[in-house]
Amino acid sequence: MSEKLFDRVAIIGIGLIGSSLARVIRRDNPTTYIVACARRAETLDAVRRLAIADEATDDPVAAVAGADLVVLATPLSAYAEIARKIARALKPGAIVTDVGSVKEAAVRDLKPLLPKGVHFVPGHPVAGTEHSGPEAGFAEMFADRWCILTPLDQTDPEAVAKITKLWRLAKMKVVTMPADHHDKVLAVTSHLPHLIAYTIVGTATELEQDLQSEVVAYSAGGFRDFTRIAASDPVMWRDIFLANSDAVLELLQRFSEDLTALQRAIRRGDGATLHDWFTRTRAIRRSIIEAKQA
Ligand code: NAP
Repeated sequence: MSEKLFDRVAIIGIGLIGSSLARVIRRDNPTTYIVACARRAETLDAVRRLAIADEATDDPVAAVAGADLVVLATPLSAYAEIARKIARALKPGAIVTDVGSVKEAAVRDLKPLLPKGVHFVPGHPVAGTEHSGPEAGFAEMFADRWCILTPLDQTDPEAVAKITKLWRLAKMKVVTMPADHHDKVLAVTSHLPHLIAYTIVGTATELEQDLQSEVVAYSAGGFRDFTRIAASDPVMWRDIFLANSDAVLELLQRFSEDLTALQRAIRRGDGATLHDWFTRTRAIRRSIIEAKQA
């Protein structure tokens, strides 16, 4: 059995990510007491049915009482309100972490509300699927993926070490970096690709009805991969674009310029430019496969 990291863990937001983490803790630290928190009875019933927590409650204040670890795993837009509610109920010395996909906004919303003596370790397990809710989670989801922690200058190194151990239980590779750097990197690797997928699939659904059915029938030609990405949770992605607007808008500018360059190459019949571009991108795919992140 793995080293026991925490006696009592509260997971606020027990969907895809929160429930997957609960499953990891259940598997590797079975004597840790887990309290799950969500708003809807339907979610809490699922948690009980799946037996992934010892307790399920819709009250975040009750959930965090006595917890030595509190994990925020709700959409980003819920952070500030939850922090306001739980702040006074947090146990002195407790660690608060989160799994949100944008880190500067998470720090901005949470840090000012957390009391002194509570350790805040912002985090982002870069793993997931297009599904949501506690039924969609599974412990192996994190295996071999990266978890990015963005501790603040004043964050207690021991708290960072404990959260590192937690994600290592989940078989993740853990790295630390500043929050703003995280947000720029993720804008490239995750946020812009999602925006492009949402755009393409949205454009296709606005086409004529007859063409639309052909889009579905012949979707193997690249479109199907976009529909999978564009099926990701609308609340979560709305929050990501609003929270990381600066980095996404800057990147979108670059993207539009490159798109215009490719548009010009097609219009001019400039095959060399297209071939060079596609050769470079193919090499990137190969390096991702070699890094076992495909
Ligand atoms: P999800 O499956 O939709 O789960 C969200 C959970 O939060 C649900 O259990 C929901 O249940 C609960 N919730 C929502 N608002 C709440 C509130 N105010 N108080 C308490 N519980 C609340 O979403 P997810 O995919 O796990 O994403 C959660 C977080 O992980 C997001 O911040 C996201 O940026 C981050 N993340 C996601 C992925 C991914 O691929 N999905 C990857 C890495 C990180 P109720 O509706 O019943 O309240």
